[in-house]
Amino acid sequence: MREAVEQEGKLINEMRLCFLSRGENESLARLAVAGFIAPLDPTMDVLDDIRTAVSEAVTNAIVHGYEGNTDEIIYVSAFLYEREDLSRLLRVDVEDTGTGIEDVKKAMEPLYTTVPGGERAGMGFAFMEAFTDRLEVKSESQKGTCVSMWKELTEPEACVNGE
Ligand code: ATP
Ligand code: MG
Repeated sequence: MREAVEQEGKLINEMRLCFLSRGENESLARLAVAGFIAPLDPTMDVLDDIRTAVSEAVTNAIVHGYEGNTDEIIYVSAFLYEREDLSRLLRVDVEDTGTGIEDVKKAMEPLYTTVPGGERAGMGFAFMEAFTDRLEVKSESQKGTCVSMWKELTEPEACVNGE
C-alpha cells in the first residue's frame, strides 16, 4: 500500500448516503460525492478521478457484492479533513453487506476478475488505485466489503499562496 496519505487531520465535514443496489444509483453516488467537495472548488482532474473511483466501487458492490440483486443497500460515506497546513483530504467509503471477497490481494490484481466471458476487464480496483492517493479494501466472505479511498484535494503550497 502506498504511504502518500500519512495524516488525516481534523474532520471538518461528513456525508452519509445509503441507496438501493440499482444501476442508476451509481450516478447518484458519483454526483453526491462530487457535490460534497464542490465548495472546495476542486480541479476537473480531481473531480474526474473521484467520480471514476466512486463509480467503480459502487458498480462492484452492485455487480459482485449483491450479484445484481436490486433490493440491497449500499452505503457511501464521505469525510473531509483539514490539516494544520490547511491542506484538505477527502476519504470516501463504499460499503456493501454482500458476498464479500475471499482473497482481497488477488482481487486487487489488475486484470483479475471472477466474471467469466470477458464481460468484465478486471480493472476496477486498478482504476481506484490509480485515481486516488490511497486505497484500502476490507472484506469478509459472506459478510461484505468496505472500500476506503483517500484523495488529496489541496496542495499545501496553493494554500500558502492563498490560491
Ligand atoms: P471491471 O471492474 O473491469 O468491470 P471487475 O469488477 O471484475 O471488472 P475489479 O473491479 O478489479 O474487476 O474487481 C476484481 C474482482 O474482485 C471482481 O471480479 C470480484 O470477484 C471481486 N470484487 C470486487 N468488489 C467486490 C465486492 N464489493 N463484493 C464482492 N466481490 C468483489
Ligand atoms: Mg469492477
